[in-house]
Amino acid sequence: MIAAKCAKCGTIREFERLPKKFCCSECGILNTPQPETAGSGEQACGCLLPERPEWRLPSGEIDSPDGIHLYTTADDATGLTREEWIQIFGYDPEIVLKTMRQLGKEGKEGYVNTSTLGHRGHAR
Ligand SMILES: [Zn+2]
Repeated sequence: MIAAKCAKCGTIREFERLPKKFCCSECGILNTPQPETAGSGEQACGCLLPERPEWRLPSGEIDSPDGIHLYTTADDATGLTREEWIQIFGYDPEIVLKTMRQLGKEGKEGYVNTSTLGHRGHAR
């Protein structure tokens, strides 16, 4: 077992394996364990708090080089699998992403996505 300490309220939670992230069972905040701070023996692993307020929402999705579909967290873009996401946040990221995409389309005609501008190219 490995213990991790909530960076906000100090509640210590134990895991069999240290997760990439977890939500505190006391205060509900998202914690990012810092394995390098875990001491030997009894010392709990320290955690970082999310820097951005929208940390509950996925910031996007990517396919890892080995073909695993990952959802990226809003706070530091950690890639999590759907199963990991559901375990950590308690909801299905796919449903939320779908909803977000639909909202983005509605009434946004003429909206220019700057991330795709480079693909248009200027042929000569
Ligand atoms: Zn807490």
